[in-house]
Parts: sequence; structure tokens; C-alpha cells
Amino acid sequence: PPILMWFRRDLRLADHAALAAACDSGRPVIPVFILDEVTETLGAAAKFRLGLSVADLSKALKAKDSRLILRRGSALKVLRKLIADTGATSVYWSRLYDPASKARDTDIKSALKADGIDAQSFAGHVLFEPWTVATKTGGFYKVFTPMWKSVRNTDVANPLPTPKTIPTPSEWPSSDDIDDWQMGAAMQRGRATLASYCTVGEGAAMDRLNSFIADRVQNYQKNRDIPAVKGTSGLSENLTYGEVSPRQCWQAGWAALHEGAADAEVFLKELVWREFAYHLAHHTPRIVSDNWKEDWDAFPWNTDERLAEVKAWKQGRTGIQFVDAAMREMYVTGVMHNRGRMIVASYLTKHLLCHWKIGLDWFADCLIDWDPCSNAMGWQWSAGSGPDATPYFRVFNPVTQLDKFDKDRAYARKWLAEPYKKPSDTASSYFDMIPASWQMRPDQDYPAPVVAADEGRKRALDAYAARGF
Ligand code: FAD
Repeated sequence: PPILMWFRRDLRLADHAALAAACDSGRPVIPVFILDEVTETLGAAAKFRLGLSVADLSKALKAKDSRLILRRGSALKVLRKLIADTGATSVYWSRLYDPASKARDTDIKSALKADGIDAQSFAGHVLFEPWTVATKTGGFYKVFTPMWKSVRNTDVANPLPTPKTIPTPSEWPSSDDIDDWQMGAAMQRGRATLASYCTVGEGAAMDRLNSFIADRVQNYQKNRDIPAVKGTSGLSENLTYGEVSPRQCWQAGWAALHEGAADAEVFLKELVWREFAYHLAHHTPRIVSDNWKEDWDAFPWNTDERLAEVKAWKQGRTGIQFVDAAMREMYVTGVMHNRGRMIVASYLTKHLLCHWKIGLDWFADCLIDWDPCSNAMGWQWSAGSGPDATPYFRVFNPVTQLDKFDKDRAYARKWLAEPYKKPSDTASSYFDMIPASWQMRPDQDYPAPVVAADEGRKRALDAYAARGF
């Protein structure tokens, strides 16, 4: 009887333990993707990007004489229907660790087992299963550096090859057509422009990893902090949908390190930041929805999204160049440089004293590399309510940060039209993407800061002092 191979955030064929096990069994394999209760509620850009990835996987499977069966609805119902349609007796998938996926998968596993189905989950979305990494006293890690030290010399196994053949069933069940799903329907902004910034699918992800290792990893440490320079891998977009595995990235980085590229160690460390996000989400699931440090529950953050300052932040017109450039970069390209993410998050939560959830939700709607665990960790880290070794009262100064990391204003010019006489094409493209209701024009005066750097810092520190932190 066939095995249903349920794909989720593992949209690749290589280094895929669940798929490899299914193919090795010699039984027919029916690859399935379900637009279900978790994927249906993704943010606009993430859902659009997921659609591109599903279409690419579908093509890759076709090239192997297999198929990707697409179905829509509650995952358990769909799986049961497919089991009835095909006579499958097993369902395989790769484990996920964010609270929503975990809740769904736990229910499904027990329900299928009760039906007498062999339901099996496999590793692959992270390097280190969250329960296998523990402190000396047996607890989980709440601080990054000790976790990094404990895993940095791990002998990570080699990635698995792409299965040579994927055994097919004698009859295929029916499938939806991805075009009918309208995965980009919630996007208010130009799909073609956003798509032009996407690097989709397993093949493209592997090319991206290889070119990063060949050309950029040597200078990663210095260049990764300069937003105008293409100094990082860009792989977050692919890792989040599993178009590349963290193990493939780790092994490529490890090989570069041992061939003499010392900066590759910093890349490995960044991959472990991703692991840390998953580790925390597994052990403290509240990180995705509530203050990780509970003493922040009493802090009077603004939660009103209608506030003019919040709108200005979302629209990239706070009058603070680093913030506005980064917000516009995200709106046009679906990604934002890591330094930008830290600056805009700090500005929203500290200078503007707004709740980190406002930012978390806007990022979830705009990012093509949205990751439930990294996004939550990044926001709580920035707000001060999350796991961080640096004290919450260190407030980034977005003006001096620009002087430090964008001295010649190459990044600011790339994304801002108003302050500069001849706007760049990228800065202009922002105005083609935004809704007319925002009433922004490239020839307007650049706004004065909604909250100036020094003023906001003082306001934040006063608010912390008033709460007795
Ligand atoms: P590289 O520098 O090439 O790093 C390699 C990989 O390491 C990345 O692809 C990513 O998987 C991982 N990584 C690097 N930095 C971090 C980090 N700080 N936390 C977790 N993993 C990291 N990352 C996401 O993937 N999705 C998100 O939704 C997301 N939201 C964020 C929100 C905020 C407020 C902040 C401060 C950070 C967020 N990050 C998020 C982390 C980080 O900004 C991105 O992973 C990084 O910019 C991706 O670019 P890259 O792939 O070129 O990274």
C-alpha cells in the first residue's frame, strides 16, 4: 500500500529524511501538499511566496515521473480522505516546532494512529532537535552563547542524496490546480515586482548557497553588517520553506571553514541563531505570542495600530532615514537586512513605545522569509522582553547607526526618494508598490522625525524607570 508523503516546510527532494525513508521502503509514494489551517492563515507575502515554492516542487517531482497532489482543507480531514481514496496505510512528514504546527501535528498523529495508520515524523527542519540540546543541569538554553558553545563542534551527518527514483502508485488521486488557490490574493502590492526579488526552489537555493560560499563567505564577518552590500547568503527565504536544509548549509559552511575561510564560523553561528529560535519556541512556546519575560506584561506599551506614528513606521515615513529605508526595502523586496530589522524593531518598541506584536504582525504580512520562530525571537530580543544577554535599556540610536553602517548613504539612497535629488530606480519602485491611499509621492518633502533619536531614547528610559525596571 502507498505512503502519503506530506510536504510542509520541507519543499525539496535532497537531504529529506522522510522522503528518503518513503522511497527506500519500495512502496508507492504519493507526495501531497495541503493548503490547511496553518498555511491558509499565512501573511500575504509569505503565502504568495509559498505558492511559488509549491509550484516549483511540483515541477521537480514531475521531472522525476512523480506528482505533487494538492488538496485544500483541514489537514486531518484531507489526509483521511486521501487515505480512503488511495488505500495508503502510512503518512510521513518532517517535524516542525512552532506552536501552531506542533498542535496540528500532535493531534493528527494520535488521530491517524487511532485509525490504525502508521504516522511517522522525521527530522530535517533543524540541525539539532530542540530536546537533544541541554545545559549541564539538564535544562534548555535561555541564552545564545552557551548554546552555541555546546553545539559548535558537533559532528553533523552528511546530507542525504536526492532519491534516484520515487516509486509511483498505479493510480493517482485527483489534485487541485495551484492557480485556483490564488496564493497571492491577499497581496496589496505588485506581485510581479515582489516575484522579481524571489529566488525560488531547490535548484536556485543550492546555487545561492554555492555562490555565497564561493564568493562572499570569506568577507562575511565585516560585510554582513553593511546593508548596502550583498554580504550575506540570502538563504533565509529558502530555509523557511525548506528549499535547502540547514544541514546542507552547515556542511557547506563547515567545509569552507576547514578550507581556511575563517569567517565561515560566523555563518555557522548565524545558523545556530536559527536553531536557538526553534529551541526557544519548543521549550517556551509563549515566545510567539506573549512576553517571554513575564515582568513585561505590566509595561504600558501602545497597542493602538491607528496611531499616526505606527502608520508612519509601516509606511516608511518616520523621518528617520535608516528606519524608512529598511521598511521600504521590506515592502518592495519581501526581505530586510538584519541590521535594518534590528533598527526598525528597536525604533518601534523603544522610541515609539509600541508593542512588539504590532511589528511582529506587520513583518509576518510583508516578509517572504517569514519564520514563525526567528521572527518572534527577533522581535522580543529587540523589544527587551525576550532572551538577550544585553540589557533592555540599551537603545539603538538609528542616526548614529546609519553613520556607522551606511556612511556614504548608499543604502538610504537605494530606498529613499524624498531626501535625494535624483531618486534611484529602487527608491522610485516603492511608490509603484504602495496603495494610493497612503498618499505618498517621491517629490514630497522628506518628513521631520515623528520621534527624534535622542528624544525617543529619553522617553523610553523614563518609561522603564517609571515601571521600576
Ligand atoms: P545570513 O546572514 O546569510 O545568515 C544565514 C542564516 O542564518 C539565515 O538565513 C538565517 O536562517 C539564520 N540567521 C541569521 N541571523 C539570524 C537571527 N538573528 N535569528 C535567527 N536566524 C538567523 N529571520 C528569518 O529567517 N525570518 C524572520 O521572519 C525573521 N524575522 C526577524 C525579525 C527581527 C525583528 C529581527 C531582528 C530578525 C529577524 N530574522 C528573521 C533574523 C535575520 O534578520 C534574518 O534571518 C537574516 O536577515 C536573513 O538574511 P540572510 O539569509 O542573508 O542571513
